[in-house]
Order: sequence, then structure tokens, then C-alpha cells
Amino acid sequence: MSLIVGLTGGIGSGKTTVAGLFAELGAAIVDTDAIAHELTSARGAAMPAIVGAFGGAVLREDGSLDRARMRRLCFSDPAARKSLEAILHPLIRGESVARCRRADYAPYVLLVVPLLIESGAYREHVGRILLVDCDEARQIARVMARSALSEQEVREIIAAQASRAERLAAADDVLSNTGAPGELPMGVLALHRRYLELARRANDPGPA
Ligand code: ATP
Repeated sequence: MSLIVGLTGGIGSGKTTVAGLFAELGAAIVDTDAIAHELTSARGAAMPAIVGAFGGAVLREDGSLDRARMRRLCFSDPAARKSLEAILHPLIRGESVARCRRADYAPYVLLVVPLLIESGAYREHVGRILLVDCDEARQIARVMARSALSEQEVREIIAAQASRAERLAAADDVLSNTGAPGELPMGVLALHRRYLELARRANDPGPA
């Protein structure tokens, strides 16, 4: 795979929405959040280690991870957060890299990593960083409209993530998602054309 674009942005910024538009244009999507969900589903590969570390109290009835409970635990106990990350992060990274390698049917891969700027672990895997940019008020409104999280909980998640300025400083490309959803496809198409060209150049060694 010649080009991997890391797609990032704060909670509720619109990463999934934007990734869907790129997928319609033919990009391969590897979504670390989706991989995390798979790993923590009832028979997910991370579950034996998670139960070993935290006990059965973090399970839902169906045997999957109780994500709301785990989130609360991690916010109140940094050591719990560290041990969860020590279990999940290497598994997510390994699976992401494997899926990017397998995506050779597409001209380029969009690797969706919410904490790309914060973790640093994915930087070496991506050729460039695309930021879905959105202001905090819209992030809060969108997340609250879609989930049972309170405004305070969303604010805490935002405070634990990189700031908007830090993300903007690290990004190669920025897609603004402060307008209506209907405004996104034009910007996505322009970026898609740029990535096709970059992928083509990466695959073309040029004159000998
Ligand atoms: P998360 O980090 O929580 O996974 P995300 O960055 O993937 O979120 P989305 O799931 O794409 O963000 O969007 C969050 C919510 O906001 C969704 O319900 C989505 O439909 C909505 N949304 C996305 N873009 C817009 C927009 N431009 N206007 C209004 N609502 C939007």
C-alpha cells in the first residue's frame, strides 16, 4: 500500500461521517474505533486479558465489555486506564497495520485514529494527517444528540484530548466540519483527488 492517510479529529468532530464519504469514492477505510469494538465484543480477542485484569464486573450480560462502566472507571482511576490501554493498544495497532497491508485493492487507505495526535504511535504508519476540524460547542451538541453522555462527560473527554490548536498544528490537511453535512462532499472530493495523485506518484518510480 503506497499511501496511508491518518484521519483524526476530536470526539464528535465528524470522522465517521467523513470516512463514509471517502469510502463512497473508493478509498479503503481502516477504523481503529471499529477494531476496538470488535476486540471488546463478546468473543473479542481482548476480552480474556480484560477480564483477567478487571474481573467480570466490567462485562455486560452478553459477555462484551461494558464500555460506559469502563470509561467511568478509567476517568476516576489512571492506573486502570493504563492497564486497559496496555491490553488494547498493541492489539488495535497490530490489527490496523495488518488491515492497511491487505487493502491493496484501493488506491489509498484512510486510517481513522481518534487519538492520532495524542498517541504518536501511528505517526510512523501514516504518510500524512487529515484533520476533521470542528469547534467545541458543535462537538458537544453532536455527541449529546447521539449518546447518553451528559455535557459534563463530553467536556471531560474533550479536555483529555489534544486541543484544537495542537491538532491544527500537526495536520497536513484540514477539512472543516462546522457547516451543514451537505457541505462536506465537495471538500472530500478535492482531498480524494489530491490523495489519488499522491498515491500515483508514490507508485510511479519515475524515469530510470
Ligand atoms: P466519535 O469521535 O465520537 O467517534 P466522530 O468524529 O466519528 O465521532 P461522527 O460520528 O461522524 O463523528 O459525527 C458525530 C455526530 O454528529 C453524528 O451523529 C453525525 O451524524 C453528526 N454530524 C456529523 N457531521 C455533522 C454536521 N456537519 N452537521 C450536523 N451533524 C453532524
